[in-house]
Amino acid sequence: MANVNKSPTKLRRAEVAGAGFAGLATAIALRQNGWEVTLHERSDELRAFGAGIYLWHNGLRVLEGLNVLNEVLQGSHTPPTYETWMHNKSISRETFKGLPWRVMTRSHLHNALVDRAKAVGVNICVNSEAVGADPQGLLTLQSGEVRQADLIVGADGVSSKIRDSIGFKQDRWGSTDGIIRLIVPRKKAELGHGEWDNTIDMWNFWPRVQRILYSPCNENDLYLGLMAPSADTRGSRVPLDLEVWVEMFPFLEPCLVEAAKLQTARYDKYETTKLESWTRGKVALVGDAAHAMCPAIAQGAGCAIVNGFSLTQDLEAGNSVEDALVAWEKRIRPITDRAQQISADYAANRSLSKGNMFTSAALEAARYDPIKRVFSWPQ
Ligand SMILES: Cc1cc2nc3c(=O)[nH]c(=O)nc-3n(C[C@H](O)[C@H](O)[C@H](O)COP(=O)(O)OP(=O)(O)OC[C@H]3O[C@@H](n4cnc5c(N)ncnc54)[C@H](O)[C@@H]3O)c2cc1C
Repeated sequence: MANVNKSPTKLRRAEVAGAGFAGLATAIALRQNGWEVTLHERSDELRAFGAGIYLWHNGLRVLEGLNVLNEVLQGSHTPPTYETWMHNKSISRETFKGLPWRVMTRSHLHNALVDRAKAVGVNICVNSEAVGADPQGLLTLQSGEVRQADLIVGADGVSSKIRDSIGFKQDRWGSTDGIIRLIVPRKKAELGHGEWDNTIDMWNFWPRVQRILYSPCNENDLYLGLMAPSADTRGSRVPLDLEVWVEMFPFLEPCLVEAAKLQTARYDKYETTKLESWTRGKVALVGDAAHAMCPAIAQGAGCAIVNGFSLTQDLEAGNSVEDALVAWEKRIRPITDRAQQISADYAANRSLSKGNMFTSAALEAARYDPIKRVFSWPQ
């Protein structure tokens, strides 16, 4: 077991529900601080859902704190620019003033976190669905087992059973647009002339609203996000309706042909959850369970892992778990709330289509350094 600072005092126990990015990051951070941690995943295997992911300075700093940054940097990619196209013409190129950012496959990130969780001794249980929690520090599993702990973490995603079993007051809504996310071979040689190492956010409003977020993850893997309104039956069809996408993005045909072969493709609408509180007694909600957001500024997972990592810091302050959770939410939540608001506005107005939309407000969460607890990058 590596880099675990065993607390000299009483061993504290945490039960974490959900082995997505939020649950894994929280479990590792707690374990590194000497907690005994059991992580419950309802699926029969540990795997990432979705296709590719962007992480920014804030999330990369968490990976550094969790001692997995080097593993994640190998096999991922920072594109030279984030380019925006409108009707297949470039309208902006953003480099974020040197702010670190990275694109990768979700499985790459997930595998690195799973390996680290195992290495530090997180007790991982698959086929272990959590069905409810009690603020006194009880976690109930589908099997009927009730587990007691000093801390319960609900990291069980946007449809969180932990959250709903306790009755956190919440608003939850879906957006007009949704997305088909896929990983396909890059086919760089077949794409012909172009700066294909860039992220290219390709928007079209005519004759239909269709967008492709083209995101190289490494030399071999390309993450495609194909956005269309949910009312568009052809644009939202899976497996992919090749004709309708090639018509709008003919230069991407080699990649789209590969995308159309993927029978497991899903069309997902964006969801937002806004809660009155993220904590109740000894229960904390982390990640999409607490703050699912539209992906416009690519901060859902970034904020999730920052919040999970930060939770451990507040638990080290020496207060009761209940008080530490309240202090944690007060300290860290405003950054997530503002990111969530900008994401919702951008998604509702399709603002990214204007180009140059990674303003200092849009990059606020990205600039946060959760290790030093400051905004460490110039605006
Ligand atoms: C289209 C799209 C693109 C996105 N792009 C980005 C991006 O580029 N960058 C970024 O930072 N964010 C992005 N996000 C947001 C990001 O995907 C999420 O915020 C993040 O994955 C949430 O992680 P999580 O661990 O909270 O939830 P999840 O990923 O949903 O993980 C929850 C885990 O809990 C398990 N589980 C569920 N219920 C139970 C239960 N009852 N008991 C036990 N286990 C359970 C699930 O099987 C799963 O493993 C995007 C989101 C969307 C929709």
